[in-house]
Amino acid sequence: MADTTEYIGVTCQHCAGEGCCFCDKKGTVEVTSPERMCRHCNGVGCLYCGYTGWSGLRGKYD
Ligand SMILES: [Zn+2]
Ligand SMILES: [Zn+2]
Repeated sequence: MADTTEYIGVTCQHCAGEGCCFCDKKGTVEVTSPERMCRHCNGVGCLYCGYTGWSGLRGKYD
């Protein structure tokens, strides 16, 4: 099966777009489309989502 994974930019929940160490100071992170809040913390930020609040973070796997 071809890799059709698409990524979209979403606002980092840790800093609400201000930029922090978890989003490389960009304020956004790339996650697999369609975007989903982290099921572990519901967007609050936890170990599983790299404290960004999002599931499917690029380069990480849930
Ligand atoms: Zn951030
Ligand atoms: Zn989380």
